[in-house]
Amino acid sequence: MNRDVGFFNFSINKILTKRQTILDQARIRLLYYGLWLAIIAVSAALINLYIEHREILTFSTSILLVSIFILFKYLTFRPRWGIISHILLVLATMVNLSNVFITLQNVDIITAQITFLIIVFSFYMLGQTCGLFYSLVNLIPILLFLVLMYDSNYFISLKPKVVDPSTLIIAIFANFILIIFIQNHFYAAFVKNIRQLKETAEERGNLNAEFEKVIEKAEKSSQAKSEFLSTMSHEIRTPLNAVIGMTNLLMMGNPRPDQKDNLEILKFSANNLLALVNDVLDFNKIESGKVVFETIKFSLADLMQNMCGGQKLKAEEKGLDFILEMDDSLKNKTVFGDPTRLSQIIFNLISNAIKFTHEGTVWVRMNQLEDHHNTVTVDFSVKDTGIGIEKENLDAIFEPFTQESITTTRQYGGTGLGLAIVKRLLELQDLQMSVLSQPGKGSEFSFNMEFPVSTEIATVQAEKQPFAIGSTDSLSNIRVLIAEDNLVNVMLMKKLFSKWGITPTIAENGERAIEMVQYGNFDIILMDLQMPVLNGFDAAVEIRKMRDHKKANTPIIALTASALFDIKERVFGSGMNDYVSKPFKPDELREKMKNLVTTFNSQI
Ligand code: ADP
Repeated sequence: MNRDVGFFNFSINKILTKRQTILDQARIRLLYYGLWLAIIAVSAALINLYIEHREILTFSTSILLVSIFILFKYLTFRPRWGIISHILLVLATMVNLSNVFITLQNVDIITAQITFLIIVFSFYMLGQTCGLFYSLVNLIPILLFLVLMYDSNYFISLKPKVVDPSTLIIAIFANFILIIFIQNHFYAAFVKNIRQLKETAEERGNLNAEFEKVIEKAEKSSQAKSEFLSTMSHEIRTPLNAVIGMTNLLMMGNPRPDQKDNLEILKFSANNLLALVNDVLDFNKIESGKVVFETIKFSLADLMQNMCGGQKLKAEEKGLDFILEMDDSLKNKTVFGDPTRLSQIIFNLISNAIKFTHEGTVWVRMNQLEDHHNTVTVDFSVKDTGIGIEKENLDAIFEPFTQESITTTRQYGGTGLGLAIVKRLLELQDLQMSVLSQPGKGSEFSFNMEFPVSTEIATVQAEKQPFAIGSTDSLSNIRVLIAEDNLVNVMLMKKLFSKWGITPTIAENGERAIEMVQYGNFDIILMDLQMPVLNGFDAAVEIRKMRDHKKANTPIIALTASALFDIKERVFGSGMNDYVSKPFKPDELREKMKNLVTTFNSQI
């Protein structure tokens, strides 16, 4: 509604605004021109009645004219078409029924016209319900009147008025013009509305096309960013592999105490850098929607125990107590889920708890909340007696690259990515993390997760005996083929293997590796995945196709420098037996090699 319209406005343009719908504008126009027409017609009738000296009719027509004029003025001041329509319809109904029952005591063509006008006008102006109401309010009494007339029972003491034919002609003519005007007007509005709908649909189509283009562009740029990060991380991990590997080798060579301290710092920094690269890579992967959750069978108790082993040592090194508690009912449960991602979440929480606690205890709890026949809901919680978090920062710490304060960054390092990854991993599974924390007292991070339960009862795994570094055992003198193109890595592996009493054979690409397997005899193959000429996946596939049964089944361990989580499927899919991700831990590689070689030798 246009509030700037002055009281003396008579123009239609000032009361129409762009905010009104096409239909409302049509209603206002109809009222404006309709009232004009009515003023002209009623004035003409009034003049005629006055000349004819019909006092009563002149008086009532004058009142009608003044009422119409007041409504017209109201409309041009405030275009409230709803109220004005109601007033007009009430007036028209009164005129119509008084004509039938009092003035004329007859149903003539004027009554028929006015009734028709009321029906059309009320439906167009006020919609279905009001349309029906005004139509029936007029029709039912008129029908009743006709019935009464038919029975000749209708009697009223007033004498019916005889209207002069010229007034009759004016009224009939004006009514027909109004009926035509209403129809014409609404038909035009209807056509305009349809045209506008079509135009809007076209506009929307164009907008959608533009929108799609922009999305495509954004997707491409995001993909380029992801690829760039992926490549960069690979490139960074390769030299990092050499740094960590070399440090490991030097540590194994009985360094002097001062050298050992320096090596510890070197190893710590390199490992930090590696964790950072992994976090960025992982976050990038989650953000680009490439994370797929696995559903594999695992034991919750084993997973927690394995994960907490290393963390407990770390906590104890810092002088903290580390307590792992789990419900007995969970100890022999085998469930389906993604153990890698679950470990990643809990690992991040425990690392933070240890990092941000100076004294006291870190608790890791796993409680069973609900046990239905097929599923179990578990509450995981990591609690500490550390520095705590201010209430107003509890949301911010889950944002990427956000830490509680600058002091945190300075004092504890870190990237602020850990919790962002944890939050997103949970959200992707429709789960939420809750945090309770009091500055100076400690924090508790917890979440619930539901798992389908396997009917199989988990057997307690026999304790694995780790190898002592540098010990010589069944691995010495085995024949190892290493397919690796990076010279630094080759040197590193040779040094490491010499400590285990192994002299490996080197192939500089996948094709050479196949040739060497064909002409030589190996107990195990270590296969880098990204190599020139023929990559590790294709080389493995070719080896598995060899006619010689023994050669085709030689154990192959993939050496991968790419992200930890996406490569697994491809490695197993191309027939390799296992993988270690570079930079690998010597112990881990050794154990995997030993297991595979033992199994392989026992099969042939
Ligand atoms: P980072 O550990 O690399 O700093 P995170 O995303 O894991 O990044 O954590 C974000 C911030 O949340 C931390 O910098 C720290 O301020 C706060 N925070 C996380 N866990 C704890 C905790 N257990 N106690 C106190 N503060 C914590």
